[in-house]
Amino acid sequence: MKTIPSLIGGRWIGPENRSQFDNFNPALGVPYAKVVKNSIEDVDEAVQCAKKALHGPWGQMSLGDRVALLEKVADTIMERFDAFLAAEMADTGKPISLASQIDIPRGAANFRIFARMAASMGSDSFFTHTPDGQGAVNYVQQMPVGVVGVICPWNLPLLLMTWKVAPALAMGNTVIVKPSEETPATATLLGEVMEQVGVPAGVYNVVHGFGPECVGDALVTHPDVAAITFTGESRTGSAIMARAAAHIKPLSFELGGKNPAVVFGDADFDKALEGTTRSVFSNCGQVCLCSERVYVHESIFDRFAEALTEKARGLVLADPQLETTSMGPLISQVHRDKVQSYFDLVKQEGGTFLTGGVTAQPQGFENGFWVEPTIATGLSETARVQKEEIFGPFCHLTPFKEEEEVIHMANDTEYGLAAAIWTEDLKRAHRVAQSVEAGMVWVNTWFLRDLRTPFGGVKNSGIGREGGRHSLEFYSESKTICIKM
Ligand code: NAD
Repeated sequence: MKTIPSLIGGRWIGPENRSQFDNFNPALGVPYAKVVKNSIEDVDEAVQCAKKALHGPWGQMSLGDRVALLEKVADTIMERFDAFLAAEMADTGKPISLASQIDIPRGAANFRIFARMAASMGSDSFFTHTPDGQGAVNYVQQMPVGVVGVICPWNLPLLLMTWKVAPALAMGNTVIVKPSEETPATATLLGEVMEQVGVPAGVYNVVHGFGPECVGDALVTHPDVAAITFTGESRTGSAIMARAAAHIKPLSFELGGKNPAVVFGDADFDKALEGTTRSVFSNCGQVCLCSERVYVHESIFDRFAEALTEKARGLVLADPQLETTSMGPLISQVHRDKVQSYFDLVKQEGGTFLTGGVTAQPQGFENGFWVEPTIATGLSETARVQKEEIFGPFCHLTPFKEEEEVIHMANDTEYGLAAAIWTEDLKRAHRVAQSVEAGMVWVNTWFLRDLRTPFGGVKNSGIGREGGRHSLEFYSESKTICIKM
């Protein structure tokens, strides 16, 4: 069985003198690789290497050379597309149609867009009138923050990791990546790319292992890690925030959601149906932006419920390597147990299933972590199933009568990441989009991304925004220099 190494200061760390843990292929439910488990001492070594690299060739490199290197990283990801695709699919079980159209191209695109944005970034300057009439000029310079700790989840491993690494490197920082223990492969592969294109040793480091009391926590609490960027569960964000407090670290948090989709009676029925099928079941519901609460106007409720149920039943759960497969497995046995426990709760809380609610065993993949696409209805708004993030191929359908009522229901949650609204009435679209408490609202579409726009959530769904200049600002410190004329 192959071993996935870590990368510290340009040195590949294999299994010698290190323990390892199993890396599962979730489609098959069997381990397919071993992963080197880094120690807290390894994290310290990575931090020292990353600190040193800040002052080496990387720190002295011109912006032009730095962005040219990052463009090369993007090109090389595309050249090694098949290797990235195979690694991501083995780790996640996601279908080839999804990984090849979204995960890998976005991994490359993240480097391209942030390299170009950094290259064309301007800065503020102000002229100050002084009593002696000579004045002073102020200009603002964006300085690197230093060593950035990048802690990532398993649902879109390469996409979400490069979303952070690319702007951090574009602004001249060095990074230590801790990928999810479930999906370590593409972070290591990106290390090979960094080496191949000549990114200096110590600029991009990868440590493997777990969160609490392990490498994750060691990064958060290390005094020389200047900032933490984290995507994951809200509860983990809360734990990280408490641990980071001692060193007053800047934090960027992209956390959980319980996103509403609202389908009005005047919506284009077919588009709303197609869009909602995607927003509920994409990546087996394991996208932070997925809709778990779907509110449908009573005038079309029965027809929409029936049509969405038919769509869910039509999803193809099969070999992820087949282009015709539309849904893969959940990430792990532990996660499947969690999703299954919510299916049990649907019944206990008085809901009914329109479809699904059980595990699935596609032929040849009987031991994998699959569940049926699932739709429930009949629950009250106070049910736990309506309040807690499930993160599986699941939604609950609720009918509504009035616009005000549905805005209230959509907002009655501790989360505020994303919302989808389906209506042909432009005035209503504006009104509702502005009233929904969320960081991102899509109208008549879902997951249509312009990487220059701010991305993040309100309430328990996050702190700060990444994307475009917001990323460049988080991964830099503004220094004001005032010069008397
Ligand atoms: P998770 O919080 O369990 O783990 C995320 C990462 O944090 C992993 O690398 C894990 O090892 C590490 N970690 C766990 N505890 C830690 C600790 N105490 N200290 C330091 N590191 C620690 O999340 P997950 O299960 O991997 O991902 C799913 C969650 O991520 C969902 O809640 C989903 O909504 C959220 N998510 C949010 C966004 C967004 O942009 N808002 C995007 C994707 C996923």
